Amino acid sequence: MRRKNLKIIHKINELREIIKNQHGSIGLVPTMGALHLGHGSLIKKSVEQNDFTVVSVFVNPVQFGINEDFDKYPRTLEKDAKLCKELGADVVFAPSADEMYQDTQELTLVCPPYSAINKLCGKSRPGHFDGVATVVSKLFNITKCDKAYFGQKDAQQLFIIKKMVKDLNFDVEIIPCPIIREEDGLALSSRNSYIEESKRADALKLSKALKWAKELWQKGIKDKQTLCDNALKILEGLDVDYVEIVDPETFEDYKEGDKRALMLIAAKVSPSNTRLIDNMEL
Ligand code: AMP
Repeated sequence: MRRKNLKIIHKINELREIIKNQHGSIGLVPTMGALHLGHGSLIKKSVEQNDFTVVSVFVNPVQFGINEDFDKYPRTLEKDAKLCKELGADVVFAPSADEMYQDTQELTLVCPPYSAINKLCGKSRPGHFDGVATVVSKLFNITKCDKAYFGQKDAQQLFIIKKMVKDLNFDVEIIPCPIIREEDGLALSSRNSYIEESKRADALKLSKALKWAKELWQKGIKDKQTLCDNALKILEGLDVDYVEIVDPETFEDYKEGDKRALMLIAAKVSPSNTRLIDNMEL
């Protein structure tokens, strides 16, 4: 791979100047940093598919609720930049909150429709997806990207961003990327670092429950209640936020007879109270 000179940019205007002088295609990988190989897979794909890749590293205050982990969210910019350089990205865009928002109280927000946010993570994290849609819109406008890369790990986020791009006519192609897991099945997440080694078995219950539901589905069990109850049995000991099944295209509730089904789980692992999410098409 051609080694490039990675630039770390903190200012919007500086990034705009660099982008102005770019003539090829631009790929954007929006992240909150503390990068792992899940993020890495998105960066790799962008580098393969574009002339110029921007990785944004921004812990977006607008998408965190007041009792959430904004303050303790891991911030590891130096390490992140190293991975981005290894993978051939061109720019790490790491603005401060003040650079991105002059005033979060008087901010114009991009708000996804109620039908998209009244379930799953949107239901338990009020305002979260307004924050996500707003920051992603800003990043699209700042970078003028041609393609943007999102992980299927955050399935509801991906659904909402695709809808936003269509509804608001953003000229950006959204590229979904598969979930990257540890060998034992645990989906990579920046929040895994909160989990004590002794609680790893608890964290693993999410992927185990999904795999079990998939096995049942493949054996012909298509009843939502049975599938969810079986998953819940495996999740015992966790503080389960939701186990749901939706149509992967429309995110409408799964009904028996539907050809495709996506099971999604959110649950907290104690004592760190780490909220994990995972999903799998059955
Ligand atoms: P985050 O930094 O958690 O906001 O994630 C940034 C992007 O990386 C999002 O599009 C996530 O869906 C994606 N991502 C996070 N973890 C994974 C993973 N294990 N596999 C694939 N994509 C991921």
